Amino acid sequence: MIEQEIQKLRHFMDRVAGNAVTSIGYPFAKGNNYHELYSLLRYPLINLGDPFIESNYQVNSFAIEREVVEFFADLFRAPKDDYSGYVTNGGSEGNLYGLYLARERYPEGIVYYSSESHYSIPKSIRLLNMKSIEISAGYSGEINYDELEESMKQHAHLPVIIAANIGTTMKEAKDDISVISDMIRKLDIEHYYIHCDAALAGVYLPLVEEDPTFDFKKGADSIACSGHKFIGSPIPCGIVVVKKKHVENLAHQYVSYIGSLDTTIGGSRNGFTPVVLWYTLKQQGRDGLLRSALESLALAEYTQNMFQELGISSYRNKNAITVVFPKPSEFICKKWQLATREDYAHLICMPGISKEVIDHFFSDLSKELHAAYVCK
Ligand SMILES: *Cc1c(COP(=O)(O)O)cnc(C)c1O
Repeated sequence: MIEQEIQKLRHFMDRVAGNAVTSIGYPFAKGNNYHELYSLLRYPLINLGDPFIESNYQVNSFAIEREVVEFFADLFRAPKDDYSGYVTNGGSEGNLYGLYLARERYPEGIVYYSSESHYSIPKSIRLLNMKSIEISAGYSGEINYDELEESMKQHAHLPVIIAANIGTTMKEAKDDISVISDMIRKLDIEHYYIHCDAALAGVYLPLVEEDPTFDFKKGADSIACSGHKFIGSPIPCGIVVVKKKHVENLAHQYVSYIGSLDTTIGGSRNGFTPVVLWYTLKQQGRDGLLRSALESLALAEYTQNMFQELGISSYRNKNAITVVFPKPSEFICKKWQLATREDYAHLICMPGISKEVIDHFFSDLSKELHAAYVCK
């Protein structure tokens, strides 16, 4: 490389480091150290097909990937030895996969999702060419159960496919799948499938709640989670766990080229990210993850108190690390990389964000409030 290009690379790397400091609007944890894994980057570590079946290509991380899936199956109270799943490229792929399995089982089914669902849900519905109905959500971001029930009642002759939000993107609201399953039973609907989009909250809700309202024990058929959000993988990835029978139902089966079953969405899949996830899970364990979750929850509470001190009202759902508040100025939104919708914004108290960073944000905010006051 010529000197100029080296300079360019350094400049780019500095910019990444700088922007990471003021990133509090998106749910990406930071601060993990993966030094011990660097030498793996010399190999084409690639996972082909189903991790539960050895394939011809052996420079893979299947054994580690299976352990990661097992960790989450356990966390989500999946029936023992009756689950499947794999490490995806992110929560979106997990949602696509869950809806794909649902469609293969019930091609005529209608997908019910809420107006607060992540954009990957309607995107997957389009890709899969499925029938769907969008249901409104209340102020908290939770689905409107009455409207959902009414809608299912009107279409009770068709299978029901639920895309439940376990932590919506903007307000981290949770749809209660026990409530939804009760409705389905009450309406006497025989064929149904429940997918849970637990991209952010899936990792910590089972640790902080005694009896989580979204897992396999509560009737989920598949659960998708992101690996670069709460766990903090520096490379986008995710975990999808499904009931085994849904994978066995897939039509395509054996591919002689890879010597395995093609039960995943991708072809060549990332073999490095399962190692990153495994490494973090082993380093932190359930205890470490719980500690991070409690710290995040405490920081969210602290953030709300800070808003209160400034006389700004904020909102936070139960056990959420996302704080919602009125949209501040363009300058603040840009500097702190805040996601906004309509007239509100949110910040997310992810692991790796310190109290000092939050204080810095509030010092920016109060300076602006003060200036606005002085101008008047
Ligand atoms: C982030 C997010 C997703 C998508 O996950 P990616 O890992 O970005 O693909 C899906 N659903 C919700 C609720 C999310 O917050």
